[in-house]
Formats: sequence, C-alpha cells, structure tokens
Amino acid sequence: MTVKDCISEIEKIAPLRYQEPYDNAGLIIGNPNDKVTNILITLDVTEVVLQEAIACKADLIISHHPLIFKGIKKINGNSETERCIQLAIKNDIAIYACHTNMDSANAGVNAKICEKLGLINTRILQPKTNSLTKLATYVPHAYVEKVQEALFAAGAGCIGNYDKCSFSAEGIGTYRANEQANPFIGNKNEFHKEPEQRIEVILPNERTHAVVNALLEAHPYEEVAYDLFPLQNTFNLVGDGMIGELPEAMDTKTFLQNVKTTFGCGIIRHTAITKNSVKRIAVCGGSGSFLIEDAIRNGADVFITADVKYHDFFQAENKTIIADIGHFESEQFTKELFYEILKKKFYTFAIQISKVSTNPINYL
Ligand SMILES: [Zn+2]
Repeated sequence: MTVKDCISEIEKIAPLRYQEPYDNAGLIIGNPNDKVTNILITLDVTEVVLQEAIACKADLIISHHPLIFKGIKKINGNSETERCIQLAIKNDIAIYACHTNMDSANAGVNAKICEKLGLINTRILQPKTNSLTKLATYVPHAYVEKVQEALFAAGAGCIGNYDKCSFSAEGIGTYRANEQANPFIGNKNEFHKEPEQRIEVILPNERTHAVVNALLEAHPYEEVAYDLFPLQNTFNLVGDGMIGELPEAMDTKTFLQNVKTTFGCGIIRHTAITKNSVKRIAVCGGSGSFLIEDAIRNGADVFITADVKYHDFFQAENKTIIADIGHFESEQFTKELFYEILKKKFYTFAIQISKVSTNPINYL
C-alpha cells in the first residue's frame, strides 16, 4: 500500500478542495508513491509524536492540524516545526494533514462530535454558498462522450452522492471561419450550421481552471464556445458546524456535565444558563465563534465550540448558551474518525492512534 492509497480513502470523505484558503492540508512531507506499512494518527504533529512514530516504526503520520502553515525559509532546528521536519525526513516518515477539509465535510469532525453527543437529525449549520459554477459548452455529436468524460475526470458533475451528472440538449451551432482559421468541420469563408449538443455540468469554483483546460483539450474545435455561470446554490453537504437534536430534552446542567465527562474537559466556559432544559444543539469543533449567529438563527439551545473570546460570549444575548469546551477537547475524536475511515478499507493493516496528548493547554 502507498501513501496515495491511504490519502485517497480520507479524501473520499474530505476532498482537499473543501479546505479554507488559509489552510495547508494535504501531503506535507513524503512522496505519494512511498510504501506504507504502519500508520500513526494524531491531532497535532509534535516532536514527542514523531518519537512515538519512530518507536512504533510508523511510516505515515496522519494529523488533523497541518505541521506547516506558512512558508519556512530555513530548516535548521530552531523551532519545533523545523525539528519535526528534520526528524520526519531523516526517518522516512510521511506527514499528511486533513484539516479544514475534514471540518467542513458532512461526515467529518462535527459529525463525530454530534455522534459523541448522541444527536439525531443532524445537518450542516452553515452550508457553503457561492462555491459552485456551471459550465455550458457546445459539442459536435461525435465528441459528446469524449468531452463529457474529460469534464468528469477534471472534477465536474458531482452532486451529493452522485458523480458524472450532466445535462445535454440538441441544438444547431453556426459559424463562419475566416482565411486564417482552420475549421474542424466546414470550409473557410462559408457560413456553416452544425448540429451540436449543449452539455451542462456543475463544478466547484476551484476546479474551474482544470475543467476548462480539460474541455479545451478534449473538444475538437479550434475555438471552443463555453459559458461559465456563478451559482448561488448552497452546497448542503459541505460547510461549517453542525446542528442536531437530543432524542429527549435534557436538564441543561446535566447536559453540560455530560459534555464535560464525554470530552474530558478540564473546564467548560459558558454563558448564563437561561434555559432549564435543552434539546437542539449546535456544534463546531475548534474555533467556532464565527458561527454564533447561525447557531442562534437555527434555534440552538446550546452552541458547543472552542476558542471563544470574552466579547464573543456577549453575542449569546440569552438566545443560546455558548459553551467553550476547549479546542483540543472538541476535536480529539477526529483521531477516532481517521482510524475508522482507514480501518474500514484496510482492516488488516497496522493503524494506531497516538497515545500522546498534544493539548498544549493545562488547567490548574
Ligand atoms: Zn483545530
């Protein structure tokens, strides 16, 4: 098995294109074709985790948070990140991160939190918008399949659990080629009518370049006619946070106490307990203050997240109870998530969850 095989299993759930622009998810160190015999899963890559990987002979570390976030100009061991890079390369250990792409995946970080809380009827709290484009192009009959396949292969035509989605309609294209042209069908200086099919496909914005290139490559015409339309559709299966319900309303303090136990929190910082019982729960693993308004708008009795600043707590305004359970605590089960995804496919394989707690925060 190769690094690429492991990655592709994870990216079926959390494609890299879901990651935020500031992120650096993906294969950070190593070669996609490197052989893998032993995988170590962690939330963060630290020197202690690398020592653990060396000791257990892991050749691939899968982490939630990327080891490298921004450009590094020197690698001489002055920071923990640089020392981790050195250790990984010296010991032939590949490092792969699956971060905000797993945060916004439908079966990702937040689905796991909901599962731990026993929530039902879950859905994405803030589905992605303005992230889809429609491409329409006009193809002579003999090339319809070739063009379609090229578009699909470049990442167009995926809707939810379906791929290769497209729509076609018959029509007549017209053109007149000038003296410099070299028309694929028809003659120079003659008005030409050609039966064509209009093919429409949907694609994620960031695939536009790749899809248009694939189109130009597969289409037989010298000048390819195509249109790109920005779409306002929401992408319900991708986005930030999640909301769901407890099977039965629960006493608020009991619920928060359960959360504390389930997530092993040293402390939970929360706003005033303005409701005696709670049922609808919103969650966002990691820093989720940007979703407070969405949690309120969607009627969440409690919003469980982390990294909430003093002034952000004021946004609760007695409409919801914001509960900051800690960044590490909220995302810790992401390790279990990676484990389950990989174990399902590679069940005989050596996959282990790191025993190191990488939480840098302690509570007195
Ligand atoms: Zn995080």
